Amino acid sequence: MAKNLDLKSYIRNIPDFPKPGIMFRDITPLLANAEAFGESIRQFADHFRDEKPTAILAAEARGFIFAAPLALELGVSFVPIRKPGKLPFDTHAFHYELEYGSDSLELHTDAVGAGDRVLLVDDLLATGGTMQACAALTKQCGAEIAGFAFLIELDFLNGRENLLPHNVMSLIHYN
Ligand code: IMP
Repeated sequence: MAKNLDLKSYIRNIPDFPKPGIMFRDITPLLANAEAFGESIRQFADHFRDEKPTAILAAEARGFIFAAPLALELGVSFVPIRKPGKLPFDTHAFHYELEYGSDSLELHTDAVGAGDRVLLVDDLLATGGTMQACAALTKQCGAEIAGFAFLIELDFLNGRENLLPHNVMSLIHYN
């Protein structure tokens, strides 16, 4: 019965946020509904169980919301990727360019390693820049990528092309 839930109907569209011309896809109504939130986690787990991931990685902040329950559902590690200066142990860092300026993400050097199969998770796939950075950090640790899972994909930005040939799966699409 839960499979019939229309997850897209739990996304709120906010025009002109955070700037004019942007249609922000607000996931908070989905998070507020335990049935819809739970269904999204189950669908991720069902899709990726056979890939046998050993760890779920996500970048702060919204990626954490989905990655932690998914790690528990699959019975594997949850590993946080964070903004610079937040992780206390030795880190790998990856710097990447944004439309305006640049950004950086960090991962503990011992978080994953050779033999790990990592599933990377985020709330939304736009250009794919954030996930390319997370994938680069995963590879710096010597781990393999099992796939990418997103609640939402903005199809018109073609971000998945930057993540192929890996298994890229999104539950909700906007054209
Ligand atoms: P990308 O790196 O261009 O793929 O952008 C993806 C990141 O931008 C994700 O971590 C999202 O949290 C964030 N993001 C971009 N647009 C939206 C939106 O409309 N709703 C929620 N998050 C967004």
